[in-house]
Amino acid sequence: MISVAEAHKIIQDRIRRPEIETVKVNDATGRVLAREIVATFPQPRFDNTAMDGFAVRARDTIGASADLPVTLSMKGVVPAGSSADTVIGKGECCQIMTGAPIPEGADAVVVVEESSGFSNNRCVEVFREATDGENIRYGGEEIAEGETLIRPGNRLGAGEIGVAATFGFGELEVYRRPNISLFATGDELIEPGEELKPGQIYNSNLHVFAELSERVGTLVAMQRVLKDSRESLKDFLSEAMEKSNLIVSSGGVSMGKHDYVRDVFLELGVKEYFWKVAQKPGRPFFFGELEETLIFGLPGNPVSSFVCFMEYVWPNKVTARLVESFPRETEKRRYLLGHVEMDGREMVAKPSGKYGSHMFTSALMANAILESPRGEGPLKSGQEITARLLPWSELQ
Ligand code: AMP
Ligand code: MG
Repeated sequence: MISVAEAHKIIQDRIRRPEIETVKVNDATGRVLAREIVATFPQPRFDNTAMDGFAVRARDTIGASADLPVTLSMKGVVPAGSSADTVIGKGECCQIMTGAPIPEGADAVVVVEESSGFSNNRCVEVFREATDGENIRYGGEEIAEGETLIRPGNRLGAGEIGVAATFGFGELEVYRRPNISLFATGDELIEPGEELKPGQIYNSNLHVFAELSERVGTLVAMQRVLKDSRESLKDFLSEAMEKSNLIVSSGGVSMGKHDYVRDVFLELGVKEYFWKVAQKPGRPFFFGELEETLIFGLPGNPVSSFVCFMEYVWPNKVTARLVESFPRETEKRRYLLGHVEMDGREMVAKPSGKYGSHMFTSALMANAILESPRGEGPLKSGQEITARLLPWSELQ
């Protein structure tokens, strides 16, 4: 029997990063970014107007009011999407539409409502003094060219997709979704919706696994309830092995007379890394590998299989920056419940202030389990920490 930490290490060492694939920006929802997205240009890309109105030289409007308007001569119209080849000289202006580039010489925009209005006249009356820079969105004021926008490992939603599109990314590099196959074994199991006969129970575990698999971003390739027979296990496994990066089973891995799962794994040549872990629940827990397919044999009791799936199969660890110090143990991995949130584009983590393992109210504000590796002295605020997001919680 091995410890939880040893089990984690063995699994961690076997996990390979998924391959990278390119998807259209519209198909990237929910995917995990594989390569950093950097601003390809400053944003805004050029000085432009925030309002419809007149591009002017602010100093030409000094003293303007509704009673004593200043009259400026019209140099033309700059619509959005045009290039700014007009030049504004003393006493001149041009009509300009939201998003259009500010012409050379102009340093402010007077909104159309504060003028005699758009017309084909050669002149316009301005009813108010403009201040330098008024209604101008300056190039680079939001983002500088080369700034990191989205880091690898981030899951992509509407905001990330919108930002990627803003900077011209029609395609994104994301991690390929691993294929997962799920099976449950037990002669007593039937599927929900069917009628129970004496001695039977409903298979719930596979529905938990399938739900978690979807959430974690894997594709469920196969999902089946099998009888406790070597033949049905072998048939399933030979097909699943072809189709899957991961296989997860429930049931049939302990000491029962009809617990064939491990035997069949071994017969098929699966390399066993471990079979029992010092934990409760979930002591019988098989982990092995065959031709790069990772195989998890979880116990059948629903709480055991749920806990084991969350602990070992779910790879939802992220790296966050601590905003407080975090204890470390010299000999043990240290876990604390905590809270992870986005601070701008960075994920920050704060451990619960309640350190005792008996203090379960620490769970109330938690959306993550934070963990520090063995080491001397606490991790300091500003250092990175690993966080396991609780999938039913939200990042705020
Ligand atoms: P096993 O690990 O096969 O010895 O199963 C342990 C217990 O979990 C038994 O009481 C099973 O009936 C129950 N069990 C096994 N598989 C499932 C499943 N897929 N859904 C719900 N309960 C199960
Ligand atoms: Mg069983």
